[in-house]
Amino acid sequence: MIWNPNKECMSRDEMSALQGKRLHKIVEYVYHNVPFYRHKLQERDLTPDDIRTIEDIVKLPYTTKKDLRDNYPFGLQAAPQSEIIRIHASSGTTGNPTIVGYTRKDIGVWSECMARCLTAFGVGRDDIFSVAYGYGLFTGGLGAHNGVEMVGASVVPASTGNTEKHARLIRDLGITGIACTPSYALYLAETMEQIGITKDQIKLRVGAFGAEPWTEKMREEIEERLGLKGFNIYGLSEVMGPSVSYECQAQHGSHINEDHFYPEIINPVTLEPLPKGQSGELVFTTLTKEGMPVIRYRTRDLCSLMPGECSCGRTNVRMTPIAGRSDDMLIIRGINVFPSQVESVVLSMKEFAPRYLLVVDRINNLDTLEVQVELRQEYFTATFDTPAAIDELKKRLRDKLRSVLSINAQVQLKAPNAIERSQGKSVRVIDKRKLQ
Ligand code: ADP
Ligand code: ZN
Repeated sequence: MIWNPNKECMSRDEMSALQGKRLHKIVEYVYHNVPFYRHKLQERDLTPDDIRTIEDIVKLPYTTKKDLRDNYPFGLQAAPQSEIIRIHASSGTTGNPTIVGYTRKDIGVWSECMARCLTAFGVGRDDIFSVAYGYGLFTGGLGAHNGVEMVGASVVPASTGNTEKHARLIRDLGITGIACTPSYALYLAETMEQIGITKDQIKLRVGAFGAEPWTEKMREEIEERLGLKGFNIYGLSEVMGPSVSYECQAQHGSHINEDHFYPEIINPVTLEPLPKGQSGELVFTTLTKEGMPVIRYRTRDLCSLMPGECSCGRTNVRMTPIAGRSDDMLIIRGINVFPSQVESVVLSMKEFAPRYLLVVDRINNLDTLEVQVELRQEYFTATFDTPAAIDELKKRLRDKLRSVLSINAQVQLKAPNAIERSQGKSVRVIDKRKLQ
């Protein structure tokens, strides 16, 4: 099922024409309503009339997270306050939060985009769908909520916390779908095991997982433990919130709602736009947003746009999974390391639970990486008294990490449940070098 075939299955020419028209309008709108953008265009001798087609976008300057922070709280808002009906803030994973105001039309567009995602996941009117992203300033909770109402499923606004109660509701209400972070899905699975709820007592069949990077291995783990099919959903507050892009049943990349969010991939160092297929930093321009539009906003998320067509019939361009954020990328002894690489190694070994932490330090001027990882209960019980088995396991993990990361890491095996759980976005890295 496709929620809006008129917008999700356009021909490339139609889509480009629509994007060009909308880009011109949005540039004109911010030029007249946001001094920050007017000055930036004037510095380049540009007026809105210079932006006529979508290809003209390369003439426009980039906007960064710093620009948003420098204009805290409302400096980049384009609509008058009387038109703003909701205010959210980014989670502030990497610094001060950014404030984002939405007009009534923005909330409508967001709900529509969210409905497109849920429909692609196979959610419909007969589903009972629980939203376990945090409700509040974070866009996850209310964003997903509006979409579930729009498709007409019954929404259960569970939010995070109260996980045991939530687990029982999943069983008792026959909840069929859930939206949460992949880490929370695992936490929920653990909680269910602890209180004795088994997979055959629940009816979950669809998971809408996002807000943090996750790997295919993580997907398999969650699907196996909760007995559902997990779909990726991506978004960020500065652009809208969840529903910027979503997987379809083909699960080969995530379709971008590109009639509203125009994507580009750039080289994060030279800032040159890159051709389709090459990996780099994802940049978005909001084509229809009224509250706080962004022009060529640098997300710092790393991925690529996929060439070719999708078997599902949607023509909207797809993006690959986010490898990490440019500011998540660790440089350890000159080598780039992403937490997701460690995750794929850890989960390729059946002895380990999907719980890990990277601790980076600098000792005698040399960067060090320690990977802490939790043993699954059955292996913990089996190897607990046998140091030789522990040593062998540590060595195997070290070797695998070296072959994937190209650096030596220390490994520390932890008992089950020793690594702290997160209900929202997980903390995967402690970089002590920054603390010095
Ligand atoms: P913050 O930047 O403070 O975390 P948000 O709450 O708006 O603010 O989170 C948006 C960010 O979350 C994205 O820029 C991206 O890094 C991450 N994210 C969201 N969805 C996904 C996803 N499906 N896969 C990977 N990362 C994601
Ligand atoms: Zn598709």
